[in-house]
Amino acid sequence: MPMKHWTVQDAATLYGVKEWGNGYFGINAKGHLEITPTQDESLSCDVYEIVQHLKKKGLRTPLNLRFPQVLAHRVVEVNEAFRKAIIEFGYEGSYQGVYPVKTNQIKEVVEEIVRAGNKYHYGLEAGSKPELMIALSLDLHPEALVLCNGYKDESFIRMALLARKAGRKVVITVEKMTELPLILKVAKELKVEPLIGLRAKLNAQGSGKWETSAGDHAKFGLTTSEILDAIEVLEKRDLLDSVIELHFHIGSQITDIRKIKSAMKEATRIYAKLRKMGVPIRYLNVGGGLGVDYDGSKTTFSSSMNYTISEYAADVVYTTKDICAQEQVPMPDLLSESGRAIVAYHEVVVVDIIGLIDTTHTKYKVELTGREPQILKELAYTRDNISVKNFAEMYHDAITQKDELLTLFNLGYLSLEDRSKGETLFWEVCRKLSRILSSKSLKYVPEEFQDLNKSLADKLIGNFSLFQSMPDHWAIEQLFPVMPIHRLKEKPALSATLCDITCDSDGKMEKFIDLKDVRDEIPLHEPRGGEAYYVAFFLTGAYQDILGMRHNLFGAPNEAHIVVDEDDTFKVQHIVKGDTVDHVLRSVHYDPDALIQGPASKRKASAKSDAAEALKALLTEERKLHTYLEI
Ligand SMILES: *Cc1c(COP(=O)(O)O)cnc(C)c1O
Repeated sequence: MPMKHWTVQDAATLYGVKEWGNGYFGINAKGHLEITPTQDESLSCDVYEIVQHLKKKGLRTPLNLRFPQVLAHRVVEVNEAFRKAIIEFGYEGSYQGVYPVKTNQIKEVVEEIVRAGNKYHYGLEAGSKPELMIALSLDLHPEALVLCNGYKDESFIRMALLARKAGRKVVITVEKMTELPLILKVAKELKVEPLIGLRAKLNAQGSGKWETSAGDHAKFGLTTSEILDAIEVLEKRDLLDSVIELHFHIGSQITDIRKIKSAMKEATRIYAKLRKMGVPIRYLNVGGGLGVDYDGSKTTFSSSMNYTISEYAADVVYTTKDICAQEQVPMPDLLSESGRAIVAYHEVVVVDIIGLIDTTHTKYKVELTGREPQILKELAYTRDNISVKNFAEMYHDAITQKDELLTLFNLGYLSLEDRSKGETLFWEVCRKLSRILSSKSLKYVPEEFQDLNKSLADKLIGNFSLFQSMPDHWAIEQLFPVMPIHRLKEKPALSATLCDITCDSDGKMEKFIDLKDVRDEIPLHEPRGGEAYYVAFFLTGAYQDILGMRHNLFGAPNEAHIVVDEDDTFKVQHIVKGDTVDHVLRSVHYDPDALIQGPASKRKASAKSDAAEALKALLTEERKLHTYLEI
């Protein structure tokens, strides 16, 4: 039977791009990654060509590509999903979203979201004073809300209340009881009626990695008795009418729709009871937590979710309506604070592969002459005789023989050359075994061999810092989709893991998405000499830009904002140069001018040499460049 030809469909299946790409990413006939920023197939563009174009303009990898059209599309998706659910269920309130600025504060990102959200009266949520300054600086629709969440001090509250006095719809969410007297004090002083929200500490919990954000031990929110206390205080001051919002947030990336339903039930009951007590709450705010299907598996696994945006909106709307009907209270206007689901898709990080660490291959096959030490003969025997019928015991033999090889070497009985031959023979056994394990004749692979492929995997080195570009992969083992952006018409020959260029041995990726599992390595192509090989990380638009850190003083990569036009063309809307060496040095308190002069003792005229001058000239050039490798 002739070997089946490898096609771009095979590549699409291998990398699962249809599943996690959500209509935004695909592969074109050239075998390049393609982006369709509005899910409308007549508007798509070749990402490899974008990278080539930027490279010609002098913009090196690693590169953060941002697609503002994706942001606008996400804003519309969420708002339309609620609009449709409201019509479908005959819901009597409205929906109004806010974007939580902390998910990605980058100016162009927030501005695009505000622009796209204007017709939906989309607002912003701020969790700190600088974030509130951003929110207050933007031209929101007059109906749009600015929500202040998170712990607040007096000046945060003063900022919010002055903006309120100036006519902005700024709501202060009470996260803990001590904030309430402060709000009342400043409001009285400024003679302004505050807009107050109460954050409830629900018993219902989320799912996945952020499960502990809710429940009795949660960091934020008021318990039922605190809510009652707050109501009493406000009633005494005749300020009950100021309470316009009930808020909850049970954690990010909720993977299981059932958790959302139970939180909705609990929160709507609290809302209803408060309404019946005469608190005129208008908004029920369901917080964030709307997930992103990073692996495309549509499951409750932590990098996935078992529902769509439409199902989410339908469940929120339906549950609220149902419980309000039971309780016979008016239906609230619904608010939500989706961050991750709005921004995750808009960013693609492209890195170039700069090398391969290969422990297991050597250039030559070891042929024995017969004069070698006994241990090498034994390893060669294992290599030549391992088969489907005996692989388990033969592999155990090989491991014992390798241990013995190293013991003999340490005792001084073997030469460096013998040791090298022995190690090579051992890896040959492993590779033969790997072929046996992946052959169809085996029905089941014993547990003990499952790590074998991992130790055989090639390590590709990418010109990036994991800590800067995907800190959550390091910190909480979050999975992001990874695939090459070209050569997708070629069957990948390597099974690899990825290393970054930091000196930190944690700076590596050894876990990758898979529809049914988490894989330890990813099929990639063998880099060809003289030609760049680009691998991209996807769905990094939420949290990663801001959590990213300057470990090893690798700074923010170069960045380009791309708008896709008709006829497969694109426009570079905006370029942001990555952090320079100068910038990262200043961030850790060095003065690069002084630093270039060297230590004080070497600055005297007598200490000057040609080499010292040449070094100074080099440093003067280098400080203007970005921090990554120039290959
Ligand atoms: C972080 C946060 C959000 C955003 O959550 P996502 O899961 O990213 O949608 C919303 N509301 C509050 C209060 C938050 O702290």
